Amino acid sequence: MMTSLPKKLEGKVAIVTASTEGIGYAVAKRLAEDGASVMISSRRQKKVDEAVAKLKSENLTNVKGVVCHAGKEDHRNYLIEETLRSFGGIDMLVCNAASNPSPGPFFDTTEEAWDKVFHVNLKSAFLLIKAVIPYMEKRGGGSIVTVSSVVAHRTDAVPGVHASAYGISKISLIGLTKALVPECAAKNIRINCMSPGVIETRFSEVIWKNSFANKNAMALIPMKRLGQSSECAGVVSFLCSDDSSYISGETIIVGGGMSCRL
Ligand code: NAP
Repeated sequence: MMTSLPKKLEGKVAIVTASTEGIGYAVAKRLAEDGASVMISSRRQKKVDEAVAKLKSENLTNVKGVVCHAGKEDHRNYLIEETLRSFGGIDMLVCNAASNPSPGPFFDTTEEAWDKVFHVNLKSAFLLIKAVIPYMEKRGGGSIVTVSSVVAHRTDAVPGVHASAYGISKISLIGLTKALVPECAAKNIRINCMSPGVIETRFSEVIWKNSFANKNAMALIPMKRLGQSSECAGVVSFLCSDDSSYISGETIIVGGGMSCRL
């Protein structure tokens, strides 16, 4: 008689921010497919409802959603409370939300734009991590994944973006990820980062819908194609699972072979 093996994230609970489309949605879908209960979220109720309905239509019944602007403390608290109420604990957190006001010359960046980007991309990720850690501890451990970008690793990945508030916030996220390793390890929590290259989402359409920018990007990508959100999702699932049980503080680049260093 055939017995089915348990899925690798069976019994686990995940929160994914900014997960009603793009990479976050693909990550939520993959974690749910791998057996986790998943709380999805983004700023707009309509998008949350549509994303939950779409996931349920694919037989992923272990998914719920709430409105959460990652930059708002009361929203982050609600996200955590609803996850605990719905699923009884938290084992995994994926900090995927980012803000990127259209970049111009670096020294034209206003203080307001700088603050907004760092508030959403870095400070809110830290505060959410800090808030979920006690709940992961209660479960005996957990796994956290931050989402940076290939623009953190290369000055020329997308012209003008490495030297921008967005680019520097993404470099800082890698620093945050590494800095939190010892304290997290003491609580049996691993923390890693996934850095997407040029992934075909609404966020990056300024690159792939513009033939000049697309040609520049392709010149740097040995695989000569855009990445897909699902290709990021598999890496996040790996980093959340016990398959990566001895990995913490690392950044995995999903960049089609783009040569990267930091
Ligand atoms: P996307 O397709 O544009 O999706 C953005 C998602 O984020 C939507 O669900 C949106 O829903 C939500 N969102 C936006 N701002 C939010 C906020 N402040 N709080 C909560 N949710 C928010 O973007 P993506 O390409 O998947 O990007 C996801 C992550 O990957 C970002 O961290 C980005 O920096 C990173 N990344 C992407 C690429 C790429 O090529 N796509 C490359 C490198 C890094 P609502 O509008 O309802 O809030």
